[in-house]
Amino acid sequence: MKAEIYFKDLDFAKWSGKTIILDVDGTITTDGSVDVDPLVFQKVQELSMNNSVFIFSNKKLVDRNDRLSKQLKIPFIYTSFKKPNKKVIERLPEYLKRNLVVVGDKITIDGLFAKNIQAEFVKVKRLTSEADSLKTKLIYLLDNFINILIN
Ligand SMILES: [Mg+2]
Repeated sequence: MKAEIYFKDLDFAKWSGKTIILDVDGTITTDGSVDVDPLVFQKVQELSMNNSVFIFSNKKLVDRNDRLSKQLKIPFIYTSFKKPNKKVIERLPEYLKRNLVVVGDKITIDGLFAKNIQAEFVKVKRLTSEADSLKTKLIYLLDNFINILIN
């Protein structure tokens, strides 16, 4: 299994002309948070210079998602569908449905979503917090376990 690195430490130098769908919780923030590390902010801006970047979360926290989208200057994909359903991207213009990359922390959600939309999947090291709920921690454990099984 490849060593995982945090989103802020990814090397995007060779990425251009891609459509990147960035997961939120555990990838650019800790679960349910609006706090974005300045290094993450910088990385998102860097990435969006040569690529079409979108953020998407299965959490329907409309205010939080709006705030993040404004803060990062990155559009949020508004849809009632959830990952891993490929319909999440159904309303994106056709030209953006090529060279897709999904960046996320969960193999069971983001990894499967990438597979369903025929995207490359970049699994990042998860951002966690002491404040993560027990439910969130259990989901993370399960995801880690499945990741070990299939890698
Ligand atoms: Mg996540």
